[in-house]
Amino acid sequence: MFQLNEKVKNLTPYEPISGTYEIRLDANESFLTVPEEIENEMVLALKNVALNCYPDPMATKLIKGFADYFDVDANCVTAGNGSDEIISVIMNAFLQKGDKILTLEPDFSMYRFYAEIAECESVKYQKNDNLDVNIDDVIALANSENVRIIIFSNPCNPTSRIVTREEVRKLITSVDSLVVLDEAYMDFADESLLSEFQNYDNLIILKTCSKALGSAALRLGFAVADKTLTNVIRAVKSPYNVNSVSQALGEVIFSHPDYIDYCIKTVVESRKELYNKILEINSDKIEKVYETNTNFVFLKVKNAKDVFEKMKENSIIIRNMGDYLRITAGTKEENEKMLEAFKKVLEELE
Ligand code: PMP
Repeated sequence: MFQLNEKVKNLTPYEPISGTYEIRLDANESFLTVPEEIENEMVLALKNVALNCYPDPMATKLIKGFADYFDVDANCVTAGNGSDEIISVIMNAFLQKGDKILTLEPDFSMYRFYAEIAECESVKYQKNDNLDVNIDDVIALANSENVRIIIFSNPCNPTSRIVTREEVRKLITSVDSLVVLDEAYMDFADESLLSEFQNYDNLIILKTCSKALGSAALRLGFAVADKTLTNVIRAVKSPYNVNSVSQALGEVIFSHPDYIDYCIKTVVESRKELYNKILEINSDKIEKVYETNTNFVFLKVKNAKDVFEKMKENSIIIRNMGDYLRITAGTKEENEKMLEAFKKVLEELE
């Protein structure tokens, strides 16, 4: 009889919150939809997709669009089927069975998952109550545990906190490990290391089209690293990992830099307003609202699970993580409805 191996036998498929809700502010998606003019260009681009042919394995034009927008060398960029896929490729490429990775908890949970599938151990640096990262402690732990990879999101999902450029530079230059810097949310903040990635032979920066660029449906992620690391990522990924439809639509988006800038500005305005309005709520149920650097607000709330459930009863989905709630910035109307329901729910639970 076929027996499942240890590493997979207790796994269950990822299950996002299902069901129909009036407002969804749980997945850090963008609330913006493409304007008609760009949509029309997309329809034309789709007409030119050769369905009978395999996609361009190196997503050349898409990568050129990405590289032009972010002002990086296209030879140092790899495209993936979402940054999720790239994380998996990195773990499979740069780790060998028994190696250790270092994560900064709490952080994006997929890092540890892919490392475990690669039969590696995760060493966890635990952030303090304020959810700060002490870079010297991270460096000390990485070096004492001899970790192969340090991976973290900056700004962080879920905390929305940010580590400064200066601190990240210190980390990269103080360890022998590969540093994977997930800048999925950096378009909303200003501490990116993208302009200097060439200075380091142990740095991979991850980017995504799923957040600021409002294209989560396309599943487009990117790795930016020096040529040696890029060669490895390109060699290990599956050849036709980004489908032709996503490549074509992604190319259209990158051909509109003004639209991308507009998306970033509009989402940042929404999250600022959401953050300020949450700060104004006068409830002793709210223990702490963390400064936000992303497109969501992270807060510590008493009875967070009850609050989450009650919000769900109001047909509004936010994210609950233990004692915390994570609320994605939505349209003005969505934010208002969410805040109204949120205040009511907090009062009812007093
Ligand atoms: N990194 C972080 C920090 C994320 O929050 C997410 C998505 N929630 C991803 C990577 C994955 O993004 P993608 O849609 O590009 O796979």
